[in-house]
Amino acid sequence: MGDEVDSDAVLAEAASEGIHCLPVPTPFAVGRINCYLVEDERLTLIDAGPRSDQSLAELEQLAGEAGHRLEDIDLVVATHQHLDHIGLIRTVAERSGAEVAALDLAVNRLAAFGDRVKAENDRAVELMLRHGVSDEVANGLREITTSFLNWGDKVIVTEPLSHGSYLELGNRRLKVLHRPGHSPSDTVFHDEERRMAFGGDHLLSHISSNPLISTPLDGSPGRTRSLIDYNASMAETRKMDLDLMLSGHGDPILDHVALIDRRFAAEKRRLEKIFGIIEQRPRPAHAIAEAIWGNVALTQAYLTLSEVIGHTDILLEQGRIAEREEDGLTIFEVAG
Ligand SMILES: [Zn+2]
Repeated sequence: MGDEVDSDAVLAEAASEGIHCLPVPTPFAVGRINCYLVEDERLTLIDAGPRSDQSLAELEQLAGEAGHRLEDIDLVVATHQHLDHIGLIRTVAERSGAEVAALDLAVNRLAAFGDRVKAENDRAVELMLRHGVSDEVANGLREITTSFLNWGDKVIVTEPLSHGSYLELGNRRLKVLHRPGHSPSDTVFHDEERRMAFGGDHLLSHISSNPLISTPLDGSPGRTRSLIDYNASMAETRKMDLDLMLSGHGDPILDHVALIDRRFAAEKRRLEKIFGIIEQRPRPAHAIAEAIWGNVALTQAYLTLSEVIGHTDILLEQGRIAEREEDGLTIFEVAG
């Protein structure tokens, strides 16, 4: 899998150019989140970590090691709506008086945090039940995701950014690129002049970014077709002229084209695998997840379900499968 990246050397070089990676702990399986402190006319923090005393203490210490106080931050930028990225934004903004920038389409979602996320969790439970996850597992997951709410906070955006516009930091300008898929609000910030970008979780070097099924950003009924969106986003990113993408988790990405090609190839294999499972006999999405991942389909029910539904969306679009309702359950079968 790809060449080993000397991540320390890349990050040291970035730091010498005024971009400091601040890896802050999260309670999630993904591990630390990389926040980035960018020295410019506006001292800018890209993502802030989850809301916890420990994350705040480490963020403060890491900023201090880079020679800055959180109080001096002028601008905080959100790459997307996930808790591990946005939980501390409000805290940092209140302490520093910083402006807060994020994609315009995400402003309401970020401001409405608590109740809106609870409603999204209800929709997630509905989705799981409809696709064959048991009551017990679906409601157990709801409890866990509800408890995760403590790690988030509402974000009041003062600088809404439209897709294709520029975020001005002083010497740098970052082009704002909406790249939905992993979440509906994923935004990549592209420094065209320096051939680098801040990618959030749009691309990760060590794991594929889960295209989680979500509620649409405008809160409308239904769900995102996240893998279809994600593929379109990756195809756009593949065209970018880049030497470096700094990600929200894991190592810097030096060859985004090769990485995206690996992701596309793996996805194609999974698509055929899922089609093969449906060909054996019709079944709901959760049963497909169980056939692929066994017990993990239970412990990570929503994640694996998102993965399967992402692919069945594509197979439906290709006309290779069909879906029918049976006792409140969605069954996938080969199109005939
Ligand atoms: Zn994320």
